[in-house]
Amino acid sequence: MDIKQVAVIGAGVMGSGIAAHFANAGVPVLLLDIVPRDAQNRNVIAEGALARMAKTDPAPFMSTAAARLVATGNTEDDLGKLAGCDWIVEAVLEDPKVKQDLYARIEQVLKPEAVISSNTSTIPLAILTEGRSEPFRRAFMVTHFFNPPRYMRLLELVVGPDSDPALVAGIRRFADIALGKGVVDCKDTPGFIANRIGTYWIQAAVNAAIDLGLTVEEADAVAGRPMGVPKTGVFGLIDLVGLDLMPHIAKSLLATLPKDDPYRDIYRVEPVIENLIADGYTGRKGKGGFYRLSKATDGARVKESVDLKTGAWAKSDKPKLDSVEEARRGGLKALVGFDDKAGRFAATVLGQTLSYAAGLVPQIADTVVAVDEAMRLGYNWGFGPFELIDQVGADWLIGWLETQGKPVPALLKSAQGRSFYRVQDGRLQYLTTGGDYAEVKRPDGVLLLADIKRTAKPIAKNGSAALWDIGDGVTCFEFISKMNSLDDQTMALLGEAIRITASKYKAMVIYNEGTNFSVGANLGLALFGINIALWPQIEALIKGGQDAYKALKFAPFPTVAAPAGMALGGGCEILLHSAAIQAHAETYCGLVEVGVGLIPGWGGCKEMLLRANAQPKRPGGPMPPLGQVFQTIGTAQVAKSAFEAKDLLYLRPADGITMNRDRLLADAKAKALALAEGYQPPKPAVEIRLPGPTARTGFALAVGDLARTGKATPYDVVVSDKLAYVLSGGDTDITETLTEDDVLALEHEMFSQLVRLPGTIARVEHMLTTGKPLRN
Ligand code: NAD
Repeated sequence: MDIKQVAVIGAGVMGSGIAAHFANAGVPVLLLDIVPRDAQNRNVIAEGALARMAKTDPAPFMSTAAARLVATGNTEDDLGKLAGCDWIVEAVLEDPKVKQDLYARIEQVLKPEAVISSNTSTIPLAILTEGRSEPFRRAFMVTHFFNPPRYMRLLELVVGPDSDPALVAGIRRFADIALGKGVVDCKDTPGFIANRIGTYWIQAAVNAAIDLGLTVEEADAVAGRPMGVPKTGVFGLIDLVGLDLMPHIAKSLLATLPKDDPYRDIYRVEPVIENLIADGYTGRKGKGGFYRLSKATDGARVKESVDLKTGAWAKSDKPKLDSVEEARRGGLKALVGFDDKAGRFAATVLGQTLSYAAGLVPQIADTVVAVDEAMRLGYNWGFGPFELIDQVGADWLIGWLETQGKPVPALLKSAQGRSFYRVQDGRLQYLTTGGDYAEVKRPDGVLLLADIKRTAKPIAKNGSAALWDIGDGVTCFEFISKMNSLDDQTMALLGEAIRITASKYKAMVIYNEGTNFSVGANLGLALFGINIALWPQIEALIKGGQDAYKALKFAPFPTVAAPAGMALGGGCEILLHSAAIQAHAETYCGLVEVGVGLIPGWGGCKEMLLRANAQPKRPGGPMPPLGQVFQTIGTAQVAKSAFEAKDLLYLRPADGITMNRDRLLADAKAKALALAEGYQPPKPAVEIRLPGPTARTGFALAVGDLARTGKATPYDVVVSDKLAYVLSGGDTDITETLTEDDVLALEHEMFSQLVRLPGTIARVEHMLTTGKPLRN
């Protein structure tokens, strides 16, 4: 199935975001909405949505090129254009009548072999297709995206009895590979998987917080991190989604859930919440929700929260809970067993939610794996409900249900004395509804280091990094330090990894499965050295990094760096020295050293100079490419996607981008193997010509202007001058040639000077204590 043109109908919150994400995948999209009564501009809704998206943060589009792929129109004048579309996604109002009427019109123009899908959150597929022809029903399915569509990885896929299996397979593949989604097959039941369990969980947590007398902060502190849930917890999440949306979701679920569904038993309308909504506290999009920001008399912003019993506002304080401390040491099992109100809250919320989930399989999905994946990808839970049951123990949950006098779901009973997941012969298995274990199968083209680690031992390892054999003659270099920060141990193992790979393997990829590829050099360690004036160690750190990255660049085998998430500072420089990059689309890379009063010192300046000069359409003369690099590094520009990283030269035109995070390692490995055929390492660029002091003076004038208008701070001027010194080649001129090592020596010299200055030390200290750059 070839998807070359897509249409999205309904340019609201979801439709516009879905259209943007198709464009991120490189597919032209037609975005249609209704013509409002008396409208001068008949496309005003779709055009307005497109204009709004250009200003939305986080951005729905991954690049400006993607934004140009969306065309707008309306459902009166442009319906005929749907005849040219391979996939039509309907994302209009959640009203069966509105959707059915629209389908009757689309049916007239739908081309053979095209797909029409609905983004409905709650309406059963059977109702949506009522009265439609057989060809329409063949082409129809539910594709339920989560908000925001670019960032939420879950796509729930629901098919009907008449859906064409070939079309379904085509959509599943496209959504997985091109859109990067985790596609989870759901049964045609109300709320599918994630919202069914998520809505129950939210209600259970709100009830328990009120009944057990927890503050919103306390409830979020327990329902967040300790349970592997984002730190917004539950009240923070409602603020994010919108308090006013919750009654709508509840209403539509109550209208369709089975008569005996346990959600009906816990559903409650809370006066405090009703009052909040009535007063305009609809969440972050309004003037606040359970939390709000208000102004103190001195003008400072103060975070406040609402009292769940009285509705009064008070300053929000970070709660101190013994049970949460206990959970840090003893995990969830310790948390639910702890006898304080937070422990009881955790036991109630988990007891109710996890047993609810256990009672829904196989009704809502065939396997526990599907349910766990839906909650991880759709609600950002660190663990799905069945993984959580394994943490507290199936036996604990059964015991809890018995103390409550509640029935034990059959699936949970079958897990008694064992677990939902186990590792057998190095393979991950799950408990089936039949009571046996079956292997968790990964789709073709999905390779996870986590799976490899279940069976293999590392080829080499120290406290900061590890080297793995990932098959077919390829090794994988993994950072394993806290936040994947880099230190002398990383560099030592990189050197060893290069020697080992050169002797026995064909290629190496640099990859890990952390949230962030790397946050850069370990600043804490560096500051420790600075504070006690361990200058030889600091010098060795700079030189060690330069040598290791140089060895990487000139390794006799190809190296492919495969970042996802943040790749900053030294974590970006390692990309620049690899033979190629295969980046996840959601990679945020940048040389951010100036933020801490430094310059890139592990070859980042040198590699950016080489990249700028090698651009196919580089601006003429020596100054423009130099200016481009000066600006990128001097303002610590971080690319907001892998596509933007190409514009900023961090990625080269031939570097690859993978949309699905789970496919990144396999794609990087394939690229490495392709490069390994007749691989020739690069030759050192012996002919670097830089303009010297004239360019440095030019940069100083430009930075001086910025300082005069308040756009650069006094210390920015100091750091920029050192950067300008390196990028302009020091005391050289355009008739001289420099080697790569000459530029590295300049980096080393300027870095060493900066690291001793009080302005830099203040910036490093500030970053370490606050996580934010100091503007000194
Ligand atoms: P929305 O209210 O933001 O947008 C709906 C859009 O549909 C509006 O622009 C409206 O003008 C347009 N519309 C209404 N009738 C139309 C018609 N006959 N033809 C063309 N356009 C029409 O709604 P939304 O939040 O984007 O939700 C859209 C769909 O996505 C619903 O089915 C909803 O259940 C589902 N959904 C929403 C979310 C969410 O978080 N908002 C998440 C997943 C799924």
